Amino acid sequence: MAENKIPYKIYLEENEIPNQWYNVRADMKNKPAPLLNPGTLKPMTAEELAPVFCEELVAQELNETDAYIDIPEEIQNFYKMYRPSPLIRAYFLEKALGTPAKIYYKFEGNNTSGSHKLNSAIAQAYYAKKQGLKGVTTETGAGQWGTALSMACSYFDLDCKVYMVKVSYEQKPFRREVMRTYGASVTPSPSMDTAIGRKILEQHPGTTGSLGCAISEAVEVATTNEGYRYVLGSVLNQVLLHQSVIGLEAKAALDKYGITPDIIIGCAGGGSNLGGLISPFMGEKLRGEKDYRIIAVEPASCPSFTRGKFAYDFCDTGMVCPLAKMYTLGSGFIPSANHAGGLRYHGMSSTLSQLYHDGFMEATSVEQTSVFEAAEQFARVEGILPAPESSHAIRVAIDEALKCKETGEEKTILFGLTGTGYFDMVAYEKYNDGVMSDYIPTDEDLKPGFDAIPKFPGNEF
Ligand SMILES: *Cc1c(COP(=O)(O)O)cnc(C)c1O
Repeated sequence: MAENKIPYKIYLEENEIPNQWYNVRADMKNKPAPLLNPGTLKPMTAEELAPVFCEELVAQELNETDAYIDIPEEIQNFYKMYRPSPLIRAYFLEKALGTPAKIYYKFEGNNTSGSHKLNSAIAQAYYAKKQGLKGVTTETGAGQWGTALSMACSYFDLDCKVYMVKVSYEQKPFRREVMRTYGASVTPSPSMDTAIGRKILEQHPGTTGSLGCAISEAVEVATTNEGYRYVLGSVLNQVLLHQSVIGLEAKAALDKYGITPDIIIGCAGGGSNLGGLISPFMGEKLRGEKDYRIIAVEPASCPSFTRGKFAYDFCDTGMVCPLAKMYTLGSGFIPSANHAGGLRYHGMSSTLSQLYHDGFMEATSVEQTSVFEAAEQFARVEGILPAPESSHAIRVAIDEALKCKETGEEKTILFGLTGTGYFDMVAYEKYNDGVMSDYIPTDEDLKPGFDAIPKFPGNEF
């Protein structure tokens, strides 16, 4: 295909939106380790998961054999409101960098929630409704997941209780208001509503909260209120499954023009957007059909992949959730106070953790001032104001494109632009004022987190 025939934006037709999700676990020889019951240390059964999660989502969580799972028609219809998302050739960025590399990005910020999280929120709300539940509970940090879930719940007329990390609740009143506009109730976490919240507040008065703590509260509320279940916006296998719609669309759009990426880059918090973007490409790699360089990018201040331990650990601070085998900094880990760029979860998807452990992907960490530098450079030439999280991927895409400039290689780079940054202007303000600083935790800083990882036979790290 002649170069000038490739449009700036590659859109799929509406009937090309995938009608099945792709489950990468089906093609993995080494499956991700199962969730363990923290009491018995035995794999969690569907029966044990049922009080916490919706039935069909439990089935998806445990399904490691079906490569394709049908997307119910109701979810497909909702996807049509904001999908297919565009795959954009970053011509202007390429020109600004003077690189021979070709850069593409899959933009997931084209919906009111401002991120990819809506892809899984709508699926989780659908299955909750189908089960006849009254509502769902969840946690939110920066607020994107809570917003996405509020939108999904209002679409299916479900109650939505969001526990929002206190520091974000105070710093991002507009996020909170978007959620309330969609009918959700938003409570700052830790709160006095739950036993775990009261305990955490007693032990750490004045704490501004953490994701792990908000998760504990949301799980408690779901399991103690009839007709409620807990839903999670990242990390879990089911979330990666729903997010595979990103990768399937990206691959279909590239295939239309015969384009094969050499490098695929995504930011990694809990791993859902990256897992979703790479899934179909990883499938080809696992089946030995093609090879790609796949790079996870994380903040240097929350380096789960690059400095974490591959071990069974708690998913939450309250230690009420099952144990997951993953790269982890320890469930008590909280990034330093100056960290502004999101991606602050202590662990990582167990599917991606296994793939990384087995050498199918790389990981790298970047410091936040260099992330915001990349964000600004991107915004000024490509027009989109990126979320700080997404900008981790932009940073590494730019770095790889600059390497191509040195070597003269015309590599094709694909990265995930997960969302927009309109609610992150306090972080941008810090960067613009020149008061943003970097902090890389020392080994000393990380030690207490590692020390708190549960010790039991078989969990050596
Ligand atoms: C939540 C979020 C992320 C990180 O979550 P993953 O599960 O790792 O994808 C990245 N970008 C944006 C815009 C987000 O909202």
